[in-house]
Amino acid sequence: MAKTDKSENKAAARELAFGGVWQYAPSIEGTDHFTIQARHELFVGGEWVKPKTGEYLPTINPATESVLSEVAMAGAKDVDRAVAAAQQAFVGWRRLPAEQRARYVFRIARILLERAREFACLETLDNGKPIKETRDVDVPLAAQHFFHHAGWADKLDLLFPGQHPEPLGVIGQVIPWNFPLLMAAWKLAPALAAGNTVVLKPAESSPLTALRLAEVFQQAELPPGVVNIVTGDGRTGAALVRHPGLAKVAFTGSTEVGKEIQRAVAGRSVELTLELGGKAAHLVFEDAALDQAVEGVVRGIFFNQGHVCCAGSRLIVQESVHDLFVDKLRRRMQRIRVGDPMDKNTDMGAIHSAAQLARIVELVQSGVDEGAELFQPRCELPAKGFWFAPTMFTGVGQTHRICREEIFGPVLSVSTFRTPEEAVEKANNTSYGLSAGIWTDKGARILWLASRMKAGVVWNNTFNRFDAASPFGGFKESGFGREGGRQGMRAYVRLKGALSPG
Ligand code: NAP
Ligand code: MG
Repeated sequence: MAKTDKSENKAAARELAFGGVWQYAPSIEGTDHFTIQARHELFVGGEWVKPKTGEYLPTINPATESVLSEVAMAGAKDVDRAVAAAQQAFVGWRRLPAEQRARYVFRIARILLERAREFACLETLDNGKPIKETRDVDVPLAAQHFFHHAGWADKLDLLFPGQHPEPLGVIGQVIPWNFPLLMAAWKLAPALAAGNTVVLKPAESSPLTALRLAEVFQQAELPPGVVNIVTGDGRTGAALVRHPGLAKVAFTGSTEVGKEIQRAVAGRSVELTLELGGKAAHLVFEDAALDQAVEGVVRGIFFNQGHVCCAGSRLIVQESVHDLFVDKLRRRMQRIRVGDPMDKNTDMGAIHSAAQLARIVELVQSGVDEGAELFQPRCELPAKGFWFAPTMFTGVGQTHRICREEIFGPVLSVSTFRTPEEAVEKANNTSYGLSAGIWTDKGARILWLASRMKAGVVWNNTFNRFDAASPFGGFKESGFGREGGRQGMRAYVRLKGALSPG
């Protein structure tokens, strides 16, 4: 492989138009080229079909604002067609011997890994997140979810002994823009392994990796209609969750839309799981390994530009080490490299959309107005695209909007505690309950705190660590239901008692 220098690589990473087809030479090492079609249709019944609406929506690269492609806008009739295809496919898919289902899911995982570089680049271009993260986190974790769940497909009787697990039917899945491929994998892998068929609706602003997964399904020879992908905007999602042909709705997104979906399914015999927003507390005790805790806090809030439902956005530090810790954080934040997401040295990429940037700006302004102290390291932000510097507020009060509302951006709010009791009280003083983090040297304290934290995931001396075998989900307004592991499988089966005369 010829070695190219860095500037050549960078130049190659820029988008080049070839007769209406965008072609990319990724800046990460390697010679592979791939194309992005100018237009994407809907994936229904194993085929690409035009939307009955005749409409298409653009998807852009948030780092450059250039249009990458346009994708079909599915209306109610298109959703009907997709649900019908999934219903038809369900008949055969549920009857397939479980070990064959396992083989399909396993094959999807393997092909995804074989095409890892292409998926990482595509995700970075469509979403704005750094290539370092798509390469090392999003794509491998997505594959891990398919591998993990492939293993459950023929072991459901062991998972639910004596309870006769059966698939539910057609599942409507709606996912957000912050981890487009990973959220698709989290949703699809358990659904397929359990014998369900799916209609998946990706977010309007980051649909390309979910659509490319359709190619993986074709390559894996997944039977037509087992997975259908309908792109569009919020109206497509609303049409899907209201469809009478669904057995279950699985949603990841904002608490606001989650509540709307709860109302839409009320009174119907449809199962529902909701993975919603968060405002995680990240506790640092005076006895913690402070330098490691700094790394954990940085990862907790600046990973994926803070577009993370479980982001450690509320840092609560023991008063005795507050000044020292904040000083260390400031110095560490100076070293965060913000810029071209396709550069493998970049730590923080582009904010995903103009709308998200506007929300971040508004909330940061509220922090200033309400009297918290703002810190941003000096960094040059590109002129084009959507950008925001890593931000920290100290002196944050419990009533400040930046302490209560999910910002979903690279903004940390810092407050203090004196005793473990006060730490728990402050940590739980939120309407959310998705995740929490604890940094301390004392094992007994971790157990004491973890049992009192009202959060679905409690990280100890680490943060934002994910595993397909570990259940993930919320308390309170962060939703209900779990994804991952045994608990995740439970959400995709119906359990039947079947007794014979004994
Ligand atoms: P969102 O606005 O709620 O959108 C999520 C998905 O729902 C998108 O596909 C969206 O389509 C669709 N949608 C919009 N309106 C709908 C409706 N009325 N009925 C059905 N579907 C509808 O959330 P987002 O801005 O994409 O994502 C950010 C939020 O997701 C944050 O609050 C974050 O915390 C949460 N999140 C939670 C988790 C978790 O596991 N708990 C993980 C990731 C993100 P369009 O985008 O096309 O409009
Ligand atoms: Mg995009």
